[in-house]
Parts: sequence; structure tokens; C-alpha cells
Amino acid sequence: MQRRKVTLKLYPNAAQAARLEAWTRLHCELYNAALEERIDAWHKARKSISYYEQQNVLPQIKADRPEFIALGSHALQQTLRRLDLAFQSFFRRVKAGQTPGFRRFKAAKRFSGFTYPDPAGWKLMQHGGRGATLRLGSGDAAMSIRARGRHRFGDQAKPNDITLTRRNDQWFVSVTLRVPDAACARQRTGDMRRGVDFGINDWATFDDGRTIGNPRWLREELPRLAALQRQRARKKKGSLRFKRLGRRIARLHERIGNRRRDFVHKETTRMVRQCAVLATEQLAPKTMSRSAKGTVDAPGRRVRQKAGLNREILSAAFGMAHPMLAYKAEEAGTRLHLSNTRQLKPSQCCAACWELVPKTLAQRVHVCPHCGHTAPRDRNSAMVVLIDAHNTQDTPGTGVAARPKPLSRQRGKSRPVTRETPATTPCVERRESSYSVA
Ligand SMILES: [Zn+2]
Repeated sequence: MQRRKVTLKLYPNAAQAARLEAWTRLHCELYNAALEERIDAWHKARKSISYYEQQNVLPQIKADRPEFIALGSHALQQTLRRLDLAFQSFFRRVKAGQTPGFRRFKAAKRFSGFTYPDPAGWKLMQHGGRGATLRLGSGDAAMSIRARGRHRFGDQAKPNDITLTRRNDQWFVSVTLRVPDAACARQRTGDMRRGVDFGINDWATFDDGRTIGNPRWLREELPRLAALQRQRARKKKGSLRFKRLGRRIARLHERIGNRRRDFVHKETTRMVRQCAVLATEQLAPKTMSRSAKGTVDAPGRRVRQKAGLNREILSAAFGMAHPMLAYKAEEAGTRLHLSNTRQLKPSQCCAACWELVPKTLAQRVHVCPHCGHTAPRDRNSAMVVLIDAHNTQDTPGTGVAARPKPLSRQRGKSRPVTRETPATTPCVERRESSYSVA
């Protein structure tokens, strides 16, 4: 059994939306009350309150406030658990010498939603195609909400728990499925061995010279985003029109994010499906997109340019592509090889003679002064990582990887990571979100 997560979009009618809203408010109230109790007990009596003490009060709360009954006891417990987890991680970080912020009271508007931690109090029914119905609550409080979205695991997948969340005035249900190992496996249609280099000019470049263009969703929408933000800046802060524009800005960001996620899902799926070996380098988008601002005493250079580059680096979603490749490769039985970027330096290394050829970011073509090998920069690095993948195992490959092994540069021990996994290894929880937004 494995766990997979899928997200469906909900289409509640007005009455259902109002009730979901009200339930969220009650959960928020419970959360804040539990937080206050913990703070008070500590201030007045130096006493810490445990999760179980708070859980044991729930029946009393339901007796005093019958509106809590419809929420389901396990969902209420889960909200208390959420607070407890927050406290645990707070104290863990304090112990580790960090300075975490203390738990804050939350406004109902900002409270994201609530969770049913087990298959009780709700039922999810798929009706073929993309339609589904989510049934919540029981008795008079029961409601059947229309939902849209589909997962690929078939009937054997059993929903285990759900989280309802509200984002930009839309409701989503995130479902954890328990899926038999066999149903997780992906069909592979090819046995290629490919190196791939992710970049900004082309989103991906393969060692055979094939490229996938970078759609640049964010850059396309920047003028519209800027126009909305300018409009909002002219409104009085906190006014109705200010808020209305804020919602439009949030929606635009959401749409950009949806398109980006959709693209990355499709392309990573295709890569994994076609390849038996897929080599790329370890990336650190966080380090790559570090600000050039510097400090007051030592201001950085070309800060605006770097900010623009950073925006593109983050928008290209490498941070999203890698985890997706990792879990999809596992499901398809593809060997995913991640070269150690610092040691191998794929963009500087020559794929033909393995010498280092230093280049600036602006130099798009690799011309080797040692052996004369010439290739587009990204293609060269894709070839380098593929050779690296080949060098770290004994079996001969095909294509570029089958070439005679270049002399290795003995620059310390290279410790690249190789994930080689048949489709049926048990694995930790993976996330897979469906394209649930119309
Ligand atoms: Zn060379």
C-alpha cells in the first residue's frame, strides 16, 4: 500500500458554501480558544496543557454549543492536533537554538480549512469521467457537494482522509488515497538514456539536442499584473475596491501557478515515460536565486538584473520539476541520476575531453580549446551529466553514454546520487495534484 494525494475542485452551491464558511469559522474559533487556554494556563499557573487535556473537553463544548456537533468529533480533534503540532515544532526549534515565532491567533478569513483524519463523516464518490460528489456530515447537516477532478489509480485506490481548503474564494478537497503498489506503477514506452539540462532560455535541453521551450507564463502576464497592482495602489487601503483588486491579483497569480504546474506535470511525465535512464544535475533554486542586493556597506552589483533573472529562475519551477521527476521515475522504474553540480560542474566541463572550460552565463556555446569540441552550452552539460550517469554504473549504455569513458578528473570524490528503483518499492508519501482548476 502506498499513499498518494490528489486535489479535487469543489463546486458548492450558495447554501453549501455558506455552511463550509461557517464550519471553517467554528474550527478557527476552536483553534483560537485552545491557543488562548494554553497561553492563559502558562501565564497564570505555569502549567502546560497537553493535547489530551484539550481533547477531553470537546464533549463538554459540544454540549454547550450544539453547532459544533455537525463538524464531527474527529475533525474537531484534528484541529486541536494541528495546534499541538505547531507547539511541538515551536519547542523543538527553540531547543535547537532557533528563534521561531510564537503561535498566533488566526482570523477566520485566514484560516485555511479543516481535516477529516479518517474515513468517517464523509464519502467521496467518483462517477466515471471527471465528475465526483463529496458527501459531508450526516443527518440534517449532510450535504452533497459537486466536485471535479480525477486520479489515475482506478477503483482500487481507497480514500483515507480529506482536507478541505479555501483559496481565493474557491474550495478544494485534498484526498489522501491508499493505493496498492501495482496501481502506482507507470507504463514506460521507451528505453532511452537521456541527459537533460534545465535552464531559462530553453526550459529543458536534452543531450541529443532536442529542447523544450520555456513558456515564461509569468513574464507573459507581468504587464497585466503590473496594471492591476498600479490600479490597486490608487485605491484607498482597506476599501471595497482595494480588496476587489487584491482578489483579482491573487486570481491571476493562481492562474499562472496552475499553468506552470500543469506544464511541469506533463513534461516530467513524458520524460520519465520515454527514458530508462534519465540524468540531470542537482539544482538548488534557492541558492541560484539568491538576491544580489548585498548589505548597506557592501551593496551588490546589477541588483535589478539579478532580480529579473531570479524571477525567471523561480518561475521556471525547477524546484517543482525535480521532486516530480523523482517520484515519477520511481513509479516508472526509470533510473534517475542526479550529478553533483559542485564537483562535476556540467556547464563548465567538456563532454568530449572532460577538461574544465570556464564560461560566463552569457556564453551560450561551448567551444573547447583543448579538443575543439563545439556544442550549445546546455546540450554540452546534458551530455556531461549523461556520461556521469554512465560512469557511475558498470553496464554499457547506448548513444552518447556508450562512448569510451573519458579520463576522469580526480577532483575529490564525486558522490552523485543515483536513485535506482523498481516500480514496486514501498515509498514515503508522495504528492500528486490533479489539474483541478478549470
Ligand atoms: Zn574538450
